[in-house]
Amino acid sequence: MITCTYCGYKCPDDAQICPNCGKPIIRLTVDAEPDYNELAKALLRETEQKEPISHKHAIIASCAVLLLALVAYSFFAR
Ligand SMILES: [Zn+2]
Repeated sequence: MITCTYCGYKCPDDAQICPNCGKPIIRLTVDAEPDYNELAKALLRETEQKEPISHKHAIIASCAVLLLALVAYSFFAR
């Protein structure tokens, strides 16, 4: 059963147009589900791709901090 978005008539699932008002049936629930899955997959892909980059950035950042500390130490040690 699918409810017509125009008149609220309970139409059969395979109906292309509403038998009551004749307007095309818009399947919000059926159309929204694959989109949501695609979004979740895209988010998952994004996080998977971002993970090694963030690790690289963390290594670079820690190296920069170490180098800066070394420079500061050698500067203040004199
Ligand atoms: Zn209708």
